[in-house]
Amino acid sequence: MKAFVEGHADASELLSAGEPFLRSISFCADALDRAGIPLGGLDSECLTRVAPMTKGGLRDTHWRERCALTSEGGIILGSSGTTGVPTIYKWTYSDLRHVGKVTQPLRQALGVHPGDIGAVWAPIDRSVMGQCMLAEFLQEGIDVHILGAVTPDVALEQLHGSGATVLKGLPKALLGLGSLPAAHDLPLRQVHVGGDLLTERIRRGIETTLDCRCYNFYGLSEIYGPLAAECLQQNGMHYLENDTLLEVVDPSTGRPSAPGAIGVAVFTTLWEKCSPALRYFSGDLVEVLQQPCACGSDLPRIVHHGRLRGYDYEGCRPLSALLVDSIISRHSEGLVDFRLTLENDGASLAVFVSSDVDEVSLADELGEYLRGAVGVETVFEEGVSRESKEMTLVDRRTVTNGDVPRWPR
Ligand SMILES: [Zn+2]
Repeated sequence: MKAFVEGHADASELLSAGEPFLRSISFCADALDRAGIPLGGLDSECLTRVAPMTKGGLRDTHWRERCALTSEGGIILGSSGTTGVPTIYKWTYSDLRHVGKVTQPLRQALGVHPGDIGAVWAPIDRSVMGQCMLAEFLQEGIDVHILGAVTPDVALEQLHGSGATVLKGLPKALLGLGSLPAAHDLPLRQVHVGGDLLTERIRRGIETTLDCRCYNFYGLSEIYGPLAAECLQQNGMHYLENDTLLEVVDPSTGRPSAPGAIGVAVFTTLWEKCSPALRYFSGDLVEVLQQPCACGSDLPRIVHHGRLRGYDYEGCRPLSALLVDSIISRHSEGLVDFRLTLENDGASLAVFVSSDVDEVSLADELGEYLRGAVGVETVFEEGVSRESKEMTLVDRRTVTNGDVPRWPR
């Protein structure tokens, strides 16, 4: 496997080629200077000295400070805002064409073809991810139906009208669509989900009710989507390693995670993106699978474990929403929504679940997973649901980090 800063044979070469462009943007040039990296000296070794960019750090600056001076007109787009105020970025059509082109292998692996009819169930107007979804379909010469941000009833009616065969949207929205009686008759062949955590139980729910295959996609507004997507094996998402450099780091130390361990994804764009990322601290917990995929692709695979805050208490395993969900599934029959709250300055973890589970055995197993570093209590709460992808874990410690990583110290 030739990905990632640790052991990525080509990483230094790619970084070196991309350095002049990064230096042309003051926001990035300042970060390289602060890290003491001399002109022409950027490689994978010294990259780790660069202080990570955070969502808060980006929001504290004007979008014009973070983009390349280009004669090409751009569109001003924002992140989804699911984790607060949207962050603003300039995007050029060159960016969107680039996204359409480099993500082509991901769609080809799924057999998406010009005979398909695409549909996007997301706000398109000013959202990075919506525009990227559109670019993906257009690249394949596929007609695309923009549903916008409508209710499941309206989406269903529109989808029946357009005859869409490939639909892109949020996992929970698609699950909601599937709960409508007439959804089973839609001509959908595949759905591509992203923007939130896809658990295996949500996937099964979508596939059963919509009678099609559900594939997981990963992306983020600060870079683009999809940076990674599942193949027909549905076993980890193939990552476009030569387009955006991925570091997987231990959030408590800032050092690379051990191979195969869960860590936080930190991204550096390797192409001339109008608003580039230089060590963007995503907050997303990912794991790099170590085995080759049965599909034969040599692109590495990642698993997205959710976006969590407050996972950095020492001695504890990262509190992965995906793993918590799989533990909960062993103690319940149906689909259980949950949220986690860190109490007492991190000494205890309350698990609020939406339906009946074996509370004692669940608390025991979670406590064991967390190596006894925190006390675990399970609480049934009617109507519990996650408010946004970042709110899986509510951190009530006296001192919290927000989205500012503790490292480098
Ligand atoms: Zn594969």
